[in-house]
This record gives sequence, structure tokens and C-alpha cells, in this order.
Amino acid sequence: MTTGNTNATVPVIPAPSVDEQIKAIELQERVLALELKKAELEAKLLEKQEREYHIKDLKARLADRDIQEKQIQEDRAQQGRTFAQQDATDAYRYRICTHKKGGIVTPRDMRVLTTGGNNIQYAVMKHQMINGDIWVRCLRCGNTWAPPVEINFFFDKAGKRVAPQDGTFDRAKFEQARDQYLRATMFETNNSMSGSVQCRFSTFDVESGKMVDAADKYREGLASTTLR
Ligand SMILES: [Zn+2]
Repeated sequence: MTTGNTNATVPVIPAPSVDEQIKAIELQERVLALELKKAELEAKLLEKQEREYHIKDLKARLADRDIQEKQIQEDRAQQGRTFAQQDATDAYRYRICTHKKGGIVTPRDMRVLTTGGNNIQYAVMKHQMINGDIWVRCLRCGNTWAPPVEINFFFDKAGKRVAPQDGTFDRAKFEQARDQYLRATMFETNNSMSGSVQCRFSTFDVESGKMVDAADKYREGLASTTLR
């Protein structure tokens, strides 16, 4: 190497031609476009995934609700079956019961406790309700006789008891129940009658502008009650 020599040449990189510059810019643009496309694609993929999760979640919730609804329906059906069974059992017990005292109970045969005896005296309890009505309950089979209420005597075409607006009133059945009730109030018994504080029920009638007796309203309120 020589010193003091100022003629040393520095290698010169030739300036890129215009063509080359254009090519470089085009290349950069293409890379940028590709990157943008890639980012766009990723965003779309994420969106798709999000939608899929959302649908999955929705399906799971719908399935849960479906199961819940089926469970509720099943519970209702089961309840209906139990009530129907209970009604049938009750009806049978009332039918075979004499509602009377007496009879012999042995450890081998305790049927008389539920079928009633043959005494003149009835095994019933009479209870005077708050409005003065007398309700009678058999202490053997549990049947309760109360003044029949008309709203309980509406039936559909199949003979099933329904709400008044869904059926027709069966006067014969109503009168039969009333006769049975009147007979029950006359059952001879030496059991003493229990009672409530006595009240009279009245209500304001808009049409006549007068207070009217509301005993029927009170009875309708108790239409599905027994002394059990
Ligand atoms: Zn009875």
C-alpha cells in the first residue's frame, strides 16, 4: 500500500437506471399488496371463527332450553297422571265406604277403618264454615260433602270436567251432588259440630247499586277445597 498517493480510486456503484428504479418500486408495491391481502385474509378467518363460536354457543343454549321444556312437559304429564290416579283411588274409597261408625277391627282385618261400619251413627264430622254453610267429612274415607258450586259442573263433549267457558253445565249432575250433600248434612252423628266465627258475605253490585249477598262468591272461592 502506498501512502501520500492521492490517486487512490474509490469503487463507484453505478447509479440504478430508471428502469431498475421502476422495477424496484413495482416490486415493493407487490410485496405491500401481498401483505395487505394476507392481513385481510387473517381478519376474515377470525371473523369466520367468531361466527362459528357464536353459532355453537347459540346451539348449545337452544339445546338446553329444549331439554328444559321437555322436562317441564314431562313433569306436567307426570303430575297429571298422579292427580288422576289419586282421584280414582279417592272415588273408589268413597264408593266402598258406608261412612258409618261401628264394625269390628281385628289385627287380621282392619278394612272397617276405611270401609266404615254398620252403626246407626255416622262417622262424620260436621263443620260450620265462616258463612254458615255446613261441610261434612267422613272420618273413615275422607270424603267431604260441601254445597255444590255451579262452576264445578261444566263438562266438555268427552265428559271431562272443564272451566265454565270451555263446556256446558250439567244440571242433573249438579242436582245429584246437591241431594247427596243435603243427605250428608242430615247424617245422624253424636260427634259435635265444629265451627268458625260467623260472618255474612256481601258485595257491592254495580248494576243495581246495592249491597248483595255474596255467599256464592265465597263458595266459588272454596270450590276446589276439601276438609282433608
Ligand atoms: Zn266414608
